[in-house]
Amino acid sequence: SSRVTLGPLVAAIDQGTSSTRFLVFNAKTAELLSHHQVEINQSFPKEGWVEEDPKEILQSVYECMERTCEKLTQLNIDISNIKAIGVTNQRETTLVWDKETGEPLYNAIVWLDLRTQSTVERLINKTPGRNKNHLKHKTGLPISTYFSAVKLRWLMDNVDEVAEAVLTHRAMFGTVDSWLIWARKGPPWPSKSGSLSGIPISGCLGDQSAALVGQMCFQEGQAKNTYGTGCFLLRNTGAKPVMSDHGLITTVAYKLGRDKPACYALEGSVAIAGAVVRWLKDNLGIIQTSTELEKLAASVGTSYGCYFVPAFSGLYAPYWEPSARGIICGLTQFTNKSHLAFAALEAVCFQTREILDAMNQDSGIPLTQLQVDGGMTSNRLLMQLQADILCIPVVKPSMPETTALGAAMAAGAAEGVSVWSLCPEDLSEVTSEKFEPQINPEGKCTVTLFQY
Ligand code: ADP
Repeated sequence: SSRVTLGPLVAAIDQGTSSTRFLVFNAKTAELLSHHQVEINQSFPKEGWVEEDPKEILQSVYECMERTCEKLTQLNIDISNIKAIGVTNQRETTLVWDKETGEPLYNAIVWLDLRTQSTVERLINKTPGRNKNHLKHKTGLPISTYFSAVKLRWLMDNVDEVAEAVLTHRAMFGTVDSWLIWARKGPPWPSKSGSLSGIPISGCLGDQSAALVGQMCFQEGQAKNTYGTGCFLLRNTGAKPVMSDHGLITTVAYKLGRDKPACYALEGSVAIAGAVVRWLKDNLGIIQTSTELEKLAASVGTSYGCYFVPAFSGLYAPYWEPSARGIICGLTQFTNKSHLAFAALEAVCFQTREILDAMNQDSGIPLTQLQVDGGMTSNRLLMQLQADILCIPVVKPSMPETTALGAAMAAGAAEGVSVWSLCPEDLSEVTSEKFEPQINPEGKCTVTLFQY
């Protein structure tokens, strides 16, 4: 059978909190040609602790790459057309490994892990006026359990192997992207680069920045919200970093080429979004699969006055309060699991509303529509609720893998491949689904009991 002619392809390793994916796109049209996905195990060794196995993460990447290549070959697509690979990953998840042996010195501490709470308190106590924003002018971030530096501090203080490796200059520290890129360059133990061994990794973006690129939010003021394990709303602020007065963080969004300027973003981070679905499934057992949640919630169409604050890992933006914990309130004898399911979906929407309000106050220019993506956006009830609670349209691209697309585009651009959507005329080709707020003439949202 004959080979399919497609022109250059670009690929992405998307190493997320709950799964790893490898995806291959047509560089010209952004069509997703093939992909493979592997779930990642999480362990919860103590209350508030969340870990993943660095070798399992690496293995899942190799498996996804190999399986995707097999699928491409079955489709008669020549894998030598892949010109560049981008890496995107769960950010802040922290790893330390030995550069001589290549062995991880501890499990990866996942971004939403809370073990550094006392480290954070100790650091804040050292600042004048106990100010968690003391370093913000330098880092764009509050001192919080979320970020990697405090996780590294904890590892150096609590894990003998790490302390020892630091002293003997053998310790390597990084986030998952560093681990993957380092491992591909060849650790002392056999690395498995497999079918794609000659193809360069030319792009590296955190998952939220990659989604901003994949959603083509290249203009100052454009924003997207990604609903994965957590929820992350990023708004492009252009070539200059903007400091928030409302609890948002300031971050580099992307830099697409050596001679191009860095673009910055304001970010509103919500620790728990899809994770609440996982909790309803694994801890309460009221659903068997994530997809069942929508039906369960839709069967009542209301939370019946029940509110769910899933502050399992403290609260991130705009509060940055690590000691906050979850609460379910407003229960009556009438409340059942369907109301709880509905309240869980509302909780995701309310958290996003708070971030959007902060973002609008910081910029002074209200957002008129929100681009969305991430695993939870397959839940149409959630999307409609979100439009109602924000009172602006919610727009979901029909190609859901925006994070991977952004990483693949960045990698392609670095290799000089002419990549889809870096030319503005491509924008007309994007198909999407729009959820309009269903607001009655009195300005009240019809779906939810909550009123603004
Ligand atoms: P991540 O990048 O953080 O690994 P994904 O974007 O892959 O996350 O999304 C996975 C999350 O979405 C999981 O936490 C899962 O519980 C949630 N999820 C997936 N499908 C649905 C659904 N139909 N309704 C609600 N939540 C869902």
